[in-house]
Amino acid sequence: MADQQDARTTATDQLTVQDPVTRYPSITPPASQDQPEPGLDVELEPTADIGERSYRGTGRLECRRALITGADSGIGAAVAIAFLREGADVALNYLPDEQRDAERVQRIGEAEGRTVVLLPGDLSERSVCEQLPGQAAEALGGLDIVVNNAGKQISVDDIEDLSDEQLTTTFDVNIIAMFRIVKAALAHLEPGASIINTTSVQAYDPSPNLLDYAATKAAINNFSKGLGQQLAPRGIRVNAVAPGPIWTPLQVSDGQPKEKLPEFGKSTPLGRAGQPTELAPAYVFLTSPESSYVVGETLVVNGGTPMP
Ligand code: NAD
Ligand code: MG
Repeated sequence: MADQQDARTTATDQLTVQDPVTRYPSITPPASQDQPEPGLDVELEPTADIGERSYRGTGRLECRRALITGADSGIGAAVAIAFLREGADVALNYLPDEQRDAERVQRIGEAEGRTVVLLPGDLSERSVCEQLPGQAAEALGGLDIVVNNAGKQISVDDIEDLSDEQLTTTFDVNIIAMFRIVKAALAHLEPGASIINTTSVQAYDPSPNLLDYAATKAAINNFSKGLGQQLAPRGIRVNAVAPGPIWTPLQVSDGQPKEKLPEFGKSTPLGRAGQPTELAPAYVFLTSPESSYVVGETLVVNGGTPMP
C-alpha cells in the first residue's frame, strides 16, 4: 500500500506545508496557446496540475457516489480525482469532443480501484440534463453528491457583437442546466447528500468582456443560497465554490483575450494563477460530513482578492 502511495504522488501533496506564493510558478503560456472551444487539458501548455501526483486521499468520502459535470478537465477533473482518492465512485459528464481528457481521469481513478463511469453529453440539451442523474445513479448504484461544474466562457468585448446563440448557450449550460440536473437528481438523493455549484468571482466583480458569463455566475450564487434553504429540511446541503483565476483549458479557448493570457492571475495577492487541484479541497470539505452545518455558503478560492 505504501509503495502504491509513493508511485502516484510526489514528495509534496495538498497536506504538505508549503509557501502558497511559490507552490506553483506563474503561468507563462506560449504565444501559440490557442485552442478551439472547449479546449483540452492534454493539449494545455504549460500543463495544469489536476492532482494526479499531488492530491492525497484521507478517506473522507468512502463509498460516496458522485456525478460531476465538466469533469474531464480543469477544476472538474481535479475534483473528480480528489473524490476518487477520498474513496468515492464517480460519473463524469463532459462534451463528446473531450473524450481524451475524460479517459485520462478514468485511468487515474481506476488505478485507485474505484469505479469511473463516462457519461458524455451536451448540457445545452434539456434531455441530457434530465437523464444524467438517473444514468449516474444506475451506473453507480445510487447517488449522494452532485457537482454542477460545467461552464461556458467566451470573451466578447462589445455587447453588440454578442451573438444570440452565445448568449442563450451560456445561460443554458451555466445555469439552466443546474436547475434541470438538480430537479432530476432529487429522486435519487437521500438525507446526507450534497450539491455543489461552481460559480466564479465574476459573480461579484464582472469583467466588461464577460457580460453573459458573469451574469450566469451571479445567478448561480443566488440559486445556491435559495436552493440551500429549500433543501436543508430534507437533509440535502447545497453550497457553492467561487474560483478566481485558475489555469484550465477554458482560459485558452477564448475564455480570455489572447493578449491577457501571459498576465493571467498575476494581479492576485498571491501573485500567480491557481492550479485546478488547489480547488479540490474546497469541494471535498463541502461534500464530506464534516461540513454538516454549512449550507448555502459560497467558498471563494481566489488567491486573496477581497470579494464584496
Ligand atoms: P474547463 O474547460 O476545464 O471545464 C469546463 C467544462 O465545462 C468543460 O470541460 C466541458 O466539459 C464543460 N462544458 C462546457 N460546455 C458544455 C456543454 N455544452 N455541455 C457539457 N459540458 C460542457 O475549465 P474550468 O476552468 O475548470 O471550468 C470549470 C468551472 O469553473 C466552470 O463553471 C467555470 O466557469 C468555473 N470557473 C473557472 C475559473 C477559471 O479561472 N478557470 C474561474 C472561475 C470559475
Ligand atoms: Mg474540458
